[in-house]
Amino acid sequence: MKPLLGIFGGTFDPVHFGHLRPALDVMQALDIEQVRFLPNCVPPHREQPWLDAATRRQLLELALADMPGFELDCRELEREGKSYMVDTLASLQADFPDHHLCLILGMDAFCGLHTWHQWQRVLQLCHVVVTGRPGFDWPSEPALQVLEACRCTDPGELKRLEAGRILLQSVTQLDISASEIRRQLQSGLDIRYLLPEAVRLKLLEIKNA
Ligand code: ATP
Repeated sequence: MKPLLGIFGGTFDPVHFGHLRPALDVMQALDIEQVRFLPNCVPPHREQPWLDAATRRQLLELALADMPGFELDCRELEREGKSYMVDTLASLQADFPDHHLCLILGMDAFCGLHTWHQWQRVLQLCHVVVTGRPGFDWPSEPALQVLEACRCTDPGELKRLEAGRILLQSVTQLDISASEIRRQLQSGLDIRYLLPEAVRLKLLEIKNA
């Protein structure tokens, strides 16, 4: 039996309530001690985020500041080369040997898990908690096959077993995406109530600089 550590990775371009509320729902439902938010470093050959890494990090700092149990973890931004989740998990396991790692993924992200670098090893290093997201109800093949092979319905298994279980967790359904926020901001629309106020104000400051 070990306590759980939540891992929430993403581009956070920018962070919004669709990241934060589901993460809190998972933390409370599964008695997770801490959720670590890991902004990713996007490889140079892929489409680059709208906001640079320093800004995405700064906005996450603002978003997480008043929430005990939410921590910013910048190891992917600080690492040289491509950031593969499998490497991130190995490094987290070395830093937190007394915890079981729970990778929190929205259903959209889970549907792409089988395309990740060494994805089978990912499941040897952590459990996966899949949250619903509006527009992404249920996985299709081959993600469905992965889910069926590893699915657990007893959250207690996450503390008992080292890794390899996949749990579906219902969370508050918020139809918010970073891409829609970027679109609204670029169209001059008000993005209030989609993300923390401190993040909105900092974004406006950057945009008007
Ligand atoms: P973009 O619109 O730029 O693709 P995004 O809003 O999907 O961005 P990401 O940073 O790519 O945000 O997502 C990081 C993680 O957060 C993923 O696991 C994703 O499934 C999850 N996530 C993002 N938005 C929501 C949401 N509204 N509800 C549930 N999960 C979400």
